[in-house]
Amino acid sequence: MTCTEFRTLIADHLGNELLVEVREQFERHKVTCAHCTFFLESYTHTVRITRLLPRPALPPALEERLRAAVAKRLAEEPQETEAAGG
Ligand SMILES: [Zn+2]
Repeated sequence: MTCTEFRTLIADHLGNELLVEVREQFERHKVTCAHCTFFLESYTHTVRITRLLPRPALPPALEERLRAAVAKRLAEEPQETEAAGG
């Protein structure tokens, strides 16, 4: 496995979505490549920190306008169920 391959697989690795044989190659590359180990650690750290950040709230005026627009649209729509896909 190359460093580029390793780095493209990091997101899948964090999501536990690697196939067993790919994960073995991933782990093997990790223990032999200090650059990728460092890259993986910083990536993991960044993801973890980002998840801890509070989600930005909408400005109250904008939220009010959005709610009004959605309510208006819902009131205007005919009460039909649309089939998904097509
Ligand atoms: Zn590497």
